Amino acid sequence: RARSSADLIRAEEPVLAHNYHPLPVVVARAEGTWVEDVEGRRYLDMLAGYSALNFGHRHPVLIEAAHRQLDRLTLTSRAFHNDQLAEFAERLVALTGLDMMLPMNTGAEAVESGIKVARKWAYDVKGVPADRATIVVAAENFHGRTTTIVSFSTDETARAGFGPFTPGFRIVPYNDLAALEAAVDESTAAVLLEPIQGEAGVIIPDDGYLAGVRELTRRTGCLLIADEIQSGLGRTGRTLAVEHEGVVPDVLLLGKALGGGIVPVSAVVARREVLSVLHPGEHGSTFGGNPLAAAVGSAVVGLLESGEYQRRATELGVVLRGGLKSLVGRGVVDFRARGLWAGVDIDPAIGTGREISERLMREGVLVKDTHGSTIRLAPPLTITGAELESALETLEKVLARG
Ligand code: PLP
Repeated sequence: RARSSADLIRAEEPVLAHNYHPLPVVVARAEGTWVEDVEGRRYLDMLAGYSALNFGHRHPVLIEAAHRQLDRLTLTSRAFHNDQLAEFAERLVALTGLDMMLPMNTGAEAVESGIKVARKWAYDVKGVPADRATIVVAAENFHGRTTTIVSFSTDETARAGFGPFTPGFRIVPYNDLAALEAAVDESTAAVLLEPIQGEAGVIIPDDGYLAGVRELTRRTGCLLIADEIQSGLGRTGRTLAVEHEGVVPDVLLLGKALGGGIVPVSAVVARREVLSVLHPGEHGSTFGGNPLAAAVGSAVVGLLESGEYQRRATELGVVLRGGLKSLVGRGVVDFRARGLWAGVDIDPAIGTGREISERLMREGVLVKDTHGSTIRLAPPLTITGAELESALETLEKVLARG
């Protein structure tokens, strides 16, 4: 007999590490924008796997690509070539306007790889003395969970108990060009930023900031690394969030939606001068660039080549912003949104982000809180206008109850 949601949640407790605090919903099936729990209750997915499901659950084109590849070849390791990787790389560099790519698996691995590449570039090309390269990052950043990445986090929960930390990072306030300029010197390999800070609550910098960072990094001779693992691949209404300011980074980090919600796929995409610093044996990954990942990744790029998803994010983003605007003063204190992505600050008198998320769940809408009373909305880009309106109505109803 199938186990109930309550039974499965109880069963996890003694055997799973407690590094997450999931909402009490046990998903068993999903299609498009909708997920279904063990008991058959349906929920509108307004989180989309933190943007890993930009194309919805089980997009037919992606599922088809995965099935086709599963039936032919799944893994070779990079000891050999496989017949899927060249096309994935060609299409991804064409989509992003850069020259070369390094395939990895998870977001954190792409960030780690970007850091390694930037340091190597600093020594081999820029001429920074050995082991002296620095990387400038922003406060409130989120780039992943490895020991090096949490070394430059400003979130104490992410760091406490995990030292000693990796040196070589300077932290400056986000959205502050003067502070960034003061931190950059001849030792600087790169500035590493999220064009929009996702985990921090969808924090959008002032107009001109990213263009200013691009000008500063060019003028001072260091790399700009854009972490678009959450902001990229259609979410904000453009293929990349940096496009809103006409910025082309030297190094672009992609992940999440690159794997179509099917397999973990990430990549460092960069100018030739930068990625050329890697030689055989200096970096690698057993699963990076595997043919299943490459086939799905190519299909994801194919979806983005049409521009349809970017357009949807732009058009439905207007609906999202309009709906949220009408809730300001009625349970919503403030919000920030771009494309189909919003951070919504709920009046703390009504509840914490967690409590609001639980109430929405009981009404059939899945979201996730970030900090305190902020919830994040990031539905699949395949959501319909009617579905989006209905999610906003549910939010209105939950907030009106107080
Ligand atoms: N970078 C950004 C901007 C992210 O939002 C995330 C995940 O939320 C990561 C990196 C880490 O990705 P992963 O969880 O796949 O390691």
